[in-house]
Amino acid sequence: YDKRSGKIWFNGELVDWADAKIHVLNHGLHYASCVFEGERVYDNSIFKLEEHTSRLFYSAKRMGIKIPYTEEEINLASKKIISVQGVKDGYVRPTIWRGSEMMAISAQQTKIHVAIATWEWGSYFDPKLKIEGIKLNISNWRRPAPNTIPWDTKASGLYMICTLSKHEAEQQGYTDSLMLDHEGNVAEATGANIFFKDKNGEIHTPIPDSFLDGITRRTVIEIAKSKGIKVNERKIAPAELSNFVGCFLTGTAAEVTPVSCIAENKFKVCETIIDLNESYQALVRKRKAA
Ligand code: PMP
Repeated sequence: YDKRSGKIWFNGELVDWADAKIHVLNHGLHYASCVFEGERVYDNSIFKLEEHTSRLFYSAKRMGIKIPYTEEEINLASKKIISVQGVKDGYVRPTIWRGSEMMAISAQQTKIHVAIATWEWGSYFDPKLKIEGIKLNISNWRRPAPNTIPWDTKASGLYMICTLSKHEAEQQGYTDSLMLDHEGNVAEATGANIFFKDKNGEIHTPIPDSFLDGITRRTVIEIAKSKGIKVNERKIAPAELSNFVGCFLTGTAAEVTPVSCIAENKFKVCETIIDLNESYQALVRKRKAA
């Protein structure tokens, strides 16, 4: 990703893609003092940009990082870089980190850096799997307890567990991994929230009390409710997985992706999931739902 052409918005300037570099003694690299966002561009416009920027500021605040720009400036910078790059359907990655002015646990005097990169991007999962459903294993790594880390943010440090889980899943022939929470209840996938459908057509999803309450999660809950589908936000034990008929993930990158199995539990790609995905696609592209 570092040798492309084009520009990256870097501390207020448009820098050549290959020149957007940091020093090896960067605090973000050594101690994960870094927060980021993941946004999607549909038809040249960023879906829920303001919500993503607010979450970026919230994540930074929780990490004690004071962003040297306003939310409005970051919104404008995000719009500017997608226009400069000419991204029609793609991804936006704002990232904020502490610099290399100090090499110690304490980093109060480090400079706060901000970069926003964007590129044309298609499906997060193989498009064929988005129709057939992806396979998940159950990770051996759990989400940390809420009093151990700023769990409701997109702080880079939280993603160590996601990469460990995802690599393990891929090595076992799965596409992604279901991570349990610190109490052993169902939490989320490595970059997406999880939902289930029961045999009565109701939807169930874990309460985001130790993991990210995704913007897509909230959007899909609203869509489901508007269709008269009952949505139950509750604790879900792994032993319940065999009772559900359907399962899907939601996320900015994942959008609405059906899941065909979690370990030995099999699910159907049911009509409700296809319909929710279509409505989500219509919403992000400002089309009328069929
Ligand atoms: N959980 C994790 C760990 C994620 O990285 C993401 C993607 N940001 C999500 C859930 C879904 O969040 P959103 O719908 O806001 O993209």
